[in-house]
Amino acid sequence: MGTTETNLLINGERVAGQGDPLAVENPFTEEPVATVGSASGEQLDAAIAAAREAFPGWERTPAVERAEMLHGVAGALRDRTDELAELMTSEGGKPRVENADEVSWTAAAFDYYAEIGRDSAGRVIPSIESTQLALVVKDALGVVGCIVPWNYPLLLLAWKLAPALAAGNTTVCKPSEVTPLSTLAIGSCFDSLPAGVVNIIAGAGDVGAALSADEHVDAMAFTGSVETGKKVAAACLDRMARVNLEMGGKDPFIVCSDVAPALDVAARGGAWAAFLNAGQVCTSAERFYVMSDVYDEYVQAFVDHTSTLVVGDPMDGGTDVGPMVSAGQREKVERQVEAAVAAGAEVVTGGDRAGHDRGHFFAPTVVTGAPADTDLLSQETFGPVAPIVPVSSLDEAIELANSTRFGLGANIYTQDLKTVLRCMREIKSGTVWFNDPLTDNDAGPFGGFKQSGLGRELGREGLEAFQETKHVHIETEIAPKEWWYPYSEYTGGNDPRDGGI
Ligand code: NAD
Repeated sequence: MGTTETNLLINGERVAGQGDPLAVENPFTEEPVATVGSASGEQLDAAIAAAREAFPGWERTPAVERAEMLHGVAGALRDRTDELAELMTSEGGKPRVENADEVSWTAAAFDYYAEIGRDSAGRVIPSIESTQLALVVKDALGVVGCIVPWNYPLLLLAWKLAPALAAGNTTVCKPSEVTPLSTLAIGSCFDSLPAGVVNIIAGAGDVGAALSADEHVDAMAFTGSVETGKKVAAACLDRMARVNLEMGGKDPFIVCSDVAPALDVAARGGAWAAFLNAGQVCTSAERFYVMSDVYDEYVQAFVDHTSTLVVGDPMDGGTDVGPMVSAGQREKVERQVEAAVAAGAEVVTGGDRAGHDRGHFFAPTVVTGAPADTDLLSQETFGPVAPIVPVSSLDEAIELANSTRFGLGANIYTQDLKTVLRCMREIKSGTVWFNDPLTDNDAGPFGGFKQSGLGRELGREGLEAFQETKHVHIETEIAPKEWWYPYSEYTGGNDPRDGGI
């Protein structure tokens, strides 16, 4: 790995952050990786001003040229896959193999929006007179602030940055204070874009709050916790800035009786959905509802598979589950499991630090018998814990699936068509996966119902999130209309072409 980039990117220049220092820690070794200077107030202002200044030129750049540059960003990211995967592993603790995948999905998002962004600029609608042309035109919003969490630092940025740029916006991006390095490192991938189109700053919540509240920022795109998302929304409300919010989840995972012949597959899928990135995925499966007639066998298969997982050094290609990102995140998970046990739950496997004295490890854990009102079954856990609950009917499974304030994703294992139809219609979540947990599709809109979010990323909706809609009404003949003054000459009528509102 080359020298770690710790400078901010403001108006095309690399500058050292003059604000509070952020110490970045390796979650496996618990040793410092680097120190990054946050953006000072003046530097934040400069980044926003640079984005403002770059906006008119970028907005006017033909979409086909923007597309070429975004494909260039995708290529530059792919070329640096190994280096970036290593850096992401050292600052975030996610297994290196998962980080290499993340780089490739990040690049794919730039390729996807490069093409979607040049495919359409709105639509033609039927005009009300033959002498007229009526259009729906999609405008860029202006300066977009992007704030992301630490669990997928590059991917979640790409889901904002790529569509925002493709739509003609300019940006100020703030990674999490826990994982700023990989985001600062990709600054050079934007070298071929005009200065100021992409600005990357660093900082903790105070910098994020200042960005969200700045009157020169036209829209905010945020991924993070519900609590922070509400603050971002409140800051934007005051000036009616647009917001797109991707927030927390408590995803259910339903296993139906008809899967009996393939319960081991449903158990492996469940374990991956619960333990991927040590359970620190917004769409982690966090509540398993299993039909009672296959419950015992499912729990056994799940526990057997869990006991085969390799928990260790995330740089090692043979590691399945690495450490959690921080001591604080692990403590939150430990507290939830302890409280569930105090309420009568049983830890069937895991529940400890997997024999590691060093690194923020929490073993992949299976819990049974947790009461429904425990935090483990009702609040986001964000750790490698799979609470499994027997249910006696699909009605009960669906009711429980819908019982939290969240609605991000849901997984169901079944091959019964009626069950598929009921679940897709009745489960209140932004994504419903059947028999293939957590698989993203750049073309498939991603986001949450209820408190899990507002708006969508990915797909065409993910581009529209960064566009304002304008109705353009063109009359080619300059002639008076019969419904104008004086009303003494107007005969009226119900014909919609009489105009007015
Ligand atoms: P967080 O809410 O603590 O922080 C997210 C980002 O917001 C960070 O960059 C942080 O510095 C910034 N921030 C903090 N306070 C702020 C404020 N007052 N104003 C503006 N910005 C502020 O979340 P986290 O701990 O970094 O990430 C974990 C959370 O992210 C989980 O709740 C998880 O579910 C959620 N998440 C959601 C998705 C999704 O797509 N729905 C994806 C990944 C993670």
